[in-house]
Amino acid sequence: MNYYIFTFGCQMNVSDSLWLDRSLQAMGLKPCNVEEEADIFLINTCSVREKPEHKIYSLLGRLQEYIREKPHVFAGVGGCVAQQVGMGFLERFSFVRLVFGTDGLVMVPECIRRLLEDRHLKISLLDFQDHYPERPECWPDSSPAQAFVNIMQGCDNFCAYCIVPYTRGSQKSRSSQNILNECFELVSRGCKEITLLGQNVNSYGQDKNGSEISFAELLKRVAGLPGLERLRFTTSHPKDIDREVIRAFGELPALCPHLHLPLQSGSDRILASMGRRYTSGDYTHIVDCLRTSCPDIALTTDLIVGFPGEKDADFQRTMDLVEKVGFDSSFSFKYSDRPGVPAEKMHPKIPDEIKADRLDRLQSLQGSLTRDRLAQRVGQEEMVLIESQSKKQGPPGTVSWTGRDPGGRLVHVHLPRDRDCTGEVLRVAIVRAHKHSLSGEVVTC
Ligand code: SF4
Repeated sequence: MNYYIFTFGCQMNVSDSLWLDRSLQAMGLKPCNVEEEADIFLINTCSVREKPEHKIYSLLGRLQEYIREKPHVFAGVGGCVAQQVGMGFLERFSFVRLVFGTDGLVMVPECIRRLLEDRHLKISLLDFQDHYPERPECWPDSSPAQAFVNIMQGCDNFCAYCIVPYTRGSQKSRSSQNILNECFELVSRGCKEITLLGQNVNSYGQDKNGSEISFAELLKRVAGLPGLERLRFTTSHPKDIDREVIRAFGELPALCPHLHLPLQSGSDRILASMGRRYTSGDYTHIVDCLRTSCPDIALTTDLIVGFPGEKDADFQRTMDLVEKVGFDSSFSFKYSDRPGVPAEKMHPKIPDEIKADRLDRLQSLQGSLTRDRLAQRVGQEEMVLIESQSKKQGPPGTVSWTGRDPGGRLVHVHLPRDRDCTGEVLRVAIVRAHKHSLSGEVVTC
């Protein structure tokens, strides 16, 4: 039997799908790259961005056409949209025979086995657990050079615009021993870079009533694993980042000098109505401390424009703070209502043309900051972890590859044809800055 996985959304969803992929292969099922060859479809959904439900319904509608001719084919829908719509998918689409939330993911492989045995069965896995649902691992002989490791599930922050606490449940930290075991296994199989994942990694362990180590201590222990070259983590909440974590950027050689620290708004009034529980002053203080600990740190962020009640003066504060911090890059979005979250009931809503204009201005400011930050890298040497071949043309006899420097910047290099460089760490002299990336020449191969 062949399966095909659709993945929408964040790195946590990507990581969940990768685990599903490994587990299904271990059961003897085969992944396929062509939809037409699949017997089982799994759709890992996300409800953070606009019209997520609409997207899933239109995908299921398309699959329904295809499945009409092949009655044995079935689908499972998981992730945040499945947690919200739940049984609705089972009722509306006869070929959907499994729905699962993030806490139910661990049971999916076993349920697929049961669904294959009994063609009339339908299964719903939507209950939240009160502890981190530990997933059995099926270790392949070798690991890719980069891996994600989940350290927690869910979130207790209830930011006014965010659906996550409702779809992923309350915060559940994973046992540090299990995290370390997984990291150890990955490194011993050749993994060079680990990214620790969680909705709010800085509050790791806080749900364990003192029985678990802090996030700073976890970073120290993972960074200390012999053979691990690079450690990253995401996502952080400014209100929870502590001094020890900030110090770690200056003390742990394996910890990459890059932090993604969502700001969301530069206006204290808007931050308060978002329920973020920090001020613009708190944020700039954190940035100052980070730059004292690690002067070369790359800072990236998330920003929302047009949150209900955002006035021109609030937006200007965001622009001023973005310029003051000088982010290396940012993800910025127009606010849009998510059903059931507190911000849905907040007013006044900002007209779309004003949101679009603010987004335009913010993105053009960020564009010029990004260009300046990238230009500062020209002339420096960076260690670049090569990720994949790029579509860019290289000079004759070469192939263009892309990788990332420790700050997380995309770097293009030309390398001799006939050589697979995936996962290699190369010393690269940066020779050119582009709009969103850098180009370099390999100094040592
Ligand atoms: S910290 Fe806020 S924005 Fe992030 S997942 Fe939790 S509720 Fe959502």
